[in-house]
Amino acid sequence: MDVVATKVDRSRLPVWAAGVLTLVCGAILAFSGWSEWASRNAEMHNAEIDLGNLARSLTQHVEDTVELADSLLRGVVTALETDDGKPGAITRLQTILKSRKPGLGRIRGIFAYGENGDWLATTEDVTLTNYNNSDRDYFVHHRTSADRSLLIGRPVQSKSGGQWVITLSRRWNHADGRFGGVVLATIDVAYFAQYYRQFDVGPHGTISLMSRDGAVLADNAEPDPKSLGRPVDEAIPYHPASGVLSFRRSGEISGRIGFYQHAQRYPFLVLATRLEAEVLTSWRRGAFVRLAVLVSLVALVIAIGIFLVKQLLQRQQLASALAAKEENFRLLAEGSSDIVTRIELDECIGYVSPSTSRVLGWHPSQLLGKRAISGVNPLDRPQLQEILDQLRKGAADEARATYRMRRRDKSEIWVEATIRATRRPDGELDGFVAVTRDVTQQKTLQGRLETLAIEDGLTGLANRRRFDERLLEEWGRAYRERTSLALLMIDIDHFKAYNDTYGHPAGDECLHTVAGILADEAQRSSDLVARYGGEEFAILLPNTDAVGCARLGERIRRALHAAGLVHEHNVAGIVTASLGGAVCRPGFERSAGPASLIEAADRALYAAKDGGRDRLVMAGEVVDLPSSRAPATVPA
Ligand code: GH3
Ligand code: MG
Ligand code: MG
Repeated sequence: MDVVATKVDRSRLPVWAAGVLTLVCGAILAFSGWSEWASRNAEMHNAEIDLGNLARSLTQHVEDTVELADSLLRGVVTALETDDGKPGAITRLQTILKSRKPGLGRIRGIFAYGENGDWLATTEDVTLTNYNNSDRDYFVHHRTSADRSLLIGRPVQSKSGGQWVITLSRRWNHADGRFGGVVLATIDVAYFAQYYRQFDVGPHGTISLMSRDGAVLADNAEPDPKSLGRPVDEAIPYHPASGVLSFRRSGEISGRIGFYQHAQRYPFLVLATRLEAEVLTSWRRGAFVRLAVLVSLVALVIAIGIFLVKQLLQRQQLASALAAKEENFRLLAEGSSDIVTRIELDECIGYVSPSTSRVLGWHPSQLLGKRAISGVNPLDRPQLQEILDQLRKGAADEARATYRMRRRDKSEIWVEATIRATRRPDGELDGFVAVTRDVTQQKTLQGRLETLAIEDGLTGLANRRRFDERLLEEWGRAYRERTSLALLMIDIDHFKAYNDTYGHPAGDECLHTVAGILADEAQRSSDLVARYGGEEFAILLPNTDAVGCARLGERIRRALHAAGLVHEHNVAGIVTASLGGAVCRPGFERSAGPASLIEAADRALYAAKDGGRDRLVMAGEVVDLPSSRAPATVPA
């Protein structure tokens, strides 16, 4: 269950990583979007404050101007009404007005009209009789209305100067209350236009002075008969006295923000507007740069993220492939009858497969952390240590060894191990893996086969093949070392008769006993006693001269006698043998070979037979034929 859970978690890791990455990038973008939006709103808010301040101060300015003009108007109205009908009054007024002209400042002119619209007096330097203003809207208004408050009229073109002016007018009455005429003050539209242009509201921003009913009296544009006196598109509320407006004028691609401020004492207001696009120009530029940088960074982060997620996926695939491989390896190791051992660099066991229980009798957990060679027969340890050292040095990557190991029950088994050095991807050695197999049976079988190959089954002596091999070896050695090599051939006398008398099994028994006697007599470890064939034996005696050979032959003959094996059809009544001995020194007899030694011994043997049996004849000895018991000589 654990394995499954881990797999599920692992497989979701890239999805989680991608999710977190998307979330982080989304959050960054959302946050910066929000912060840009906030800075845009702040920009707009600042523009509103600026417009508000501007509208307020311009309203104050126009109020002051109107108040100045109105106080003059009131003065003229008072003068006209006080002096109404008195002779010289108009002339006096004209003189006063003329004298006030230089101090009028922003006020263009003051005019006094009679009840028919005739000019009575003015600050302007014109011929009064040339004009009549009875057609003007304000004149008509005052004549028809008893209202005596200040009237702010629509801009008109001055009759005396031709320029566009804003008119401020009041009605004056005769003493009896009849309409006496109108007193008018004018202010140049151009004055306001010029004044308003000093304020920066952007290329398309507007500052408009308007009457309460919405007609434009002056603005920061060049005075334009088309717009002057016309209402603006947007409806401006009377309450509250000031406020922010947001609107779009027809034909404009961007909306506008505006701030209006009504004058407190007079029926007009100032409206200052800016194009939103212009307000936001610098913000937009900055935001674009910031957004470009941010998007590039996010793109970079996403690219890196994608790369990392891909890497993660790749690693995961590698890891699962590795896990599957490990799983396979483990299955193999645990299913195998061989012992798979992981040997760490300190030569201790890091892992050992379960088959160790069956092969060695130890549970794997009992071997973990133990030295890998601790269970090896001390005689074989140096060999194994040497292999580990060689692998460690890099002299080879793999080595095989056959050695003995002690089982838990103290018995010993033969094992064959293939030991391999394992390395990290960077080539650094990180330990060894040994696959060990119990080869005790093979080893026993092999031993038996080897024995079978060289041993005679009946007597346990070396067989003919072994004899031939050793003869060649010893011949070579004697040749090299210039030593002598002796050969004794022994043949049991009348053995056919023995068989015939006592039966074949008894014959076998007799052969076995004789073999034992021969083996006992040939005492030197280098001597080789072999069954040469049938009831014929050979003893190879390295480094032995004729005397030594004859002495052994004689000892054997006597030993047979001493054994006293009954053989009623033999002359002596017991089992005897005839022996032929031959000696040579290969180093000095260059033309001779191993066959010549056998031949000589064989001849000597036949000489012994011919000489009456139960005797030894040495090659080269004189044979005393036919019945002497003394050693005989045959040609070598
Ligand atoms: P000689 O004195 O001339 O050697 O006479 P012999 O009878 O010993 O010689 P021969 O060669 O005629 O006979 C050898 C006999 O040895 C024949 C055979 O029955 C017997 N023999 C050979 N090998 C074995 C064997 O393995 N077991 C037994 N029981 N008899 C064997
Ligand atoms: Mg024989
Ligand atoms: Mg014989």
